[in-house]
Amino acid sequence: MSETVNLAGQIEKQLPAGLVGLMRQAGEVAAGQGQRLYLVGGVVRDLLLGRTNLDLDLVVEGDAIDLAQKLAGTTRSKITTHPRFHTAKIQREKWSIDLATARTEIYDRPGALPVVQPGTIDIDLLRRDFTINAMAVELTPGGYGRLIDPYKGQDDIKDMLIRVLHESSFIDDSTRIWRGLRYEQRLNFRLETATLKLMNRDIDRLDTISGDRIRHELELALKEEFPERVLRRAAELGVLAKLHPGLKGDSWLVEKFKQARMASDTPPPGLYLALLAYRLNSAEAEELISRLRLPKLLAQTLRDADNLKGKLGSLADPGLAPSRTYNLLHGYSQTAIIANSLAGDSPVVRQHIQLFLDRLRYVRPALTGNDLIKMGFAPGPRMKAILERLHEARLDGKVTDKKEEEKLVKGWVAKESRIDKF
Ligand code: ATP
Repeated sequence: MSETVNLAGQIEKQLPAGLVGLMRQAGEVAAGQGQRLYLVGGVVRDLLLGRTNLDLDLVVEGDAIDLAQKLAGTTRSKITTHPRFHTAKIQREKWSIDLATARTEIYDRPGALPVVQPGTIDIDLLRRDFTINAMAVELTPGGYGRLIDPYKGQDDIKDMLIRVLHESSFIDDSTRIWRGLRYEQRLNFRLETATLKLMNRDIDRLDTISGDRIRHELELALKEEFPERVLRRAAELGVLAKLHPGLKGDSWLVEKFKQARMASDTPPPGLYLALLAYRLNSAEAEELISRLRLPKLLAQTLRDADNLKGKLGSLADPGLAPSRTYNLLHGYSQTAIIANSLAGDSPVVRQHIQLFLDRLRYVRPALTGNDLIKMGFAPGPRMKAILERLHEARLDGKVTDKKEEEKLVKGWVAKESRIDKF
């Protein structure tokens, strides 16, 4: 029997007082109903590691919705319930806590979502992904702070290992492969030998995962502080190739992701995705888009990034007029433009793109269609052409204010014998 560990002190030290108060209250309310309440999963792991995590998951051996409703009565909290999943969310001021009913999950077939049945905390922990995530801390008075660690998660934390709970874990849910890589790289742990073997054995199961679920895993990987580490490891283990065989997690990608962070503190996941997909050709990019069932906007970002590659040659001309830079770049998504700037590797291209993003895309002529009508032009294609020429003149710095623009337009009219020249 291992000695009892109590994390009450760690909880006080690492979590904000208001949140601790709310958890204690929740524990008391649960006890009043004859139920036990636990803090579970990632936050317990992070309490042991001394890492900040305010993403609290609570599990009650009873009914989460019933408990949440009682809590809403005694505390000033807002609750949202999901009766189908027997879960509830408690929100107060800045925090929110997810509350679930202890449950067991039965998988009808590999890769499918599980059928859920009520259970005890031990059974609930058994359905979890890795030993380091399969620990709980009791929150009910009497047992407050007691660590429950049936799978020796503490030992694996000490040894810095990612270990599954049983050998069909990746068969039950192969998205755990991606989860494992994320934890390994985030925490600087190692996949334990048998777990790594199981991962290799079950890697083809990733093909059975729906596009939405696999995209979600990739998005989570891209939200990590250093997503390139996860992708590099995924490439090494053949996991990345399961998204698309043309994807690479090599030193080029590592370098580009670092540059993306230098360009902006928290690059949007779409930028990382565009860089990851950058070296695919158009047909391969389409294959990735459909495998991941990418939403419209992200799909457009990848398509824009791909189309823009064909314009990099023109953008590399040092003598390029600003109006030409504008015409080459406008209409494309900003993320796709930045991806090309980072991936393109040409200082001249970067300068042109920077100029476009900082200044050119905001430039508009001072004269409007109404002004031109007042000057005697009739609305129609000719007027549109004049406005476009004015826009170009403004972009190229040939005119800088409304007066100069009027003069320019009058000059054009005087020079041309017929106005339809425009
Ligand atoms: P993170 O720090 O990345 O948010 P987390 O450990 O809090 O990690 P969540 O995705 O929020 O992870 O899930 C909460 C807990 O639910 C996990 O710690 C784990 O115990 C369990 N869990 C989540 N997804 C799975 C899964 N696919 N299979 C098994 N258990 C899972």
